[in-house]
Amino acid sequence: MSFSIIRLFFFHIVFILLISSFYLTSRTNPGSIPLYWGFYIGDQDYKKKRYCLLCQVFKPDRAHHCSICNTCVLNMDHHCPWVNNCIGFYNRKFFIQLLFYFFLSVLYLDIIYIPHTYNSILKLYKNRFSGKILFILYHFFILLNHGITLTLTYLDFEFFKFHLKLVFKNCTTIETLDPEFEKKNKFNLSLKENWEQVMGSDKLFWFIPFINDSGYPKGDGLTWPVNELGDEFNDNFNKKDLEKNKSDSSFNTNNKIKAGVYGSSSTAYESNNNVIRKNLGNNVINDTGTKVIEMAEKNESK
Ligand SMILES: [Zn+2]
Ligand SMILES: [Zn+2]
Repeated sequence: MSFSIIRLFFFHIVFILLISSFYLTSRTNPGSIPLYWGFYIGDQDYKKKRYCLLCQVFKPDRAHHCSICNTCVLNMDHHCPWVNNCIGFYNRKFFIQLLFYFFLSVLYLDIIYIPHTYNSILKLYKNRFSGKILFILYHFFILLNHGITLTLTYLDFEFFKFHLKLVFKNCTTIETLDPEFEKKNKFNLSLKENWEQVMGSDKLFWFIPFINDSGYPKGDGLTWPVNELGDEFNDNFNKKDLEKNKSDSSFNTNNKIKAGVYGSSSTAYESNNNVIRKNLGNNVINDTGTKVIEMAEKNESK
């Protein structure tokens, strides 16, 4: 197979992968918060939770409100004007692939341009006093093209390196704005775990920007496994909770059993059928979200 055929195949494969990753980054919903997520009646710690007043939802860890998309985005990295979409939990993988394939494409152009650039420099040098304006302009634009692709290669390489680093550290662009976060990053697990939380566990789909069940990022974007820093935080938090409950006379055996069934906050929410179970003493109430919110407000005002 001749060199030009290899070049032809290489370029078109990279180009198709580049266009697909661009399309998927732009068109994939980065991840939204399910209605009533984190809403528990009787939850004593609701004031500690982050709440979005605009979307009127509790915000899970690492979710942020995007003022351009006007919605809360799971594991929001940043809003990208180049793809007119937020980079979040479900499309961060495609974004990383977009940066990678863009880098390969411009690098390919850089290499292809080398003989042309060399040729143009020689010709320009030889004809520097000839006064042939069109000839000089023609070769000048070849040099300008190469200059542009070299600049794009450098910029994209730096950007790709920055994002790759974030993935390996299990961090997002927004989280880097907090200087304390990097020192106390409770989401930083092993390299493999951090990588799979963005790129999924299927090695083939680390490179292929297509949707497949095994190609999805690990987790759900709502709850995040934590390292020992997070465990320490939770331990302290639970200890305080336990001490507070011991001193509270309303914390009876019945509550303890239900706490075991429904989780630490003694209430549970099932997103599938929009049923909220309320645990207040012996009562377990199933109702639609709206009704439960009204009841919560009544309880608040009491
Ligand atoms: Zn919001
Ligand atoms: Zn956005």
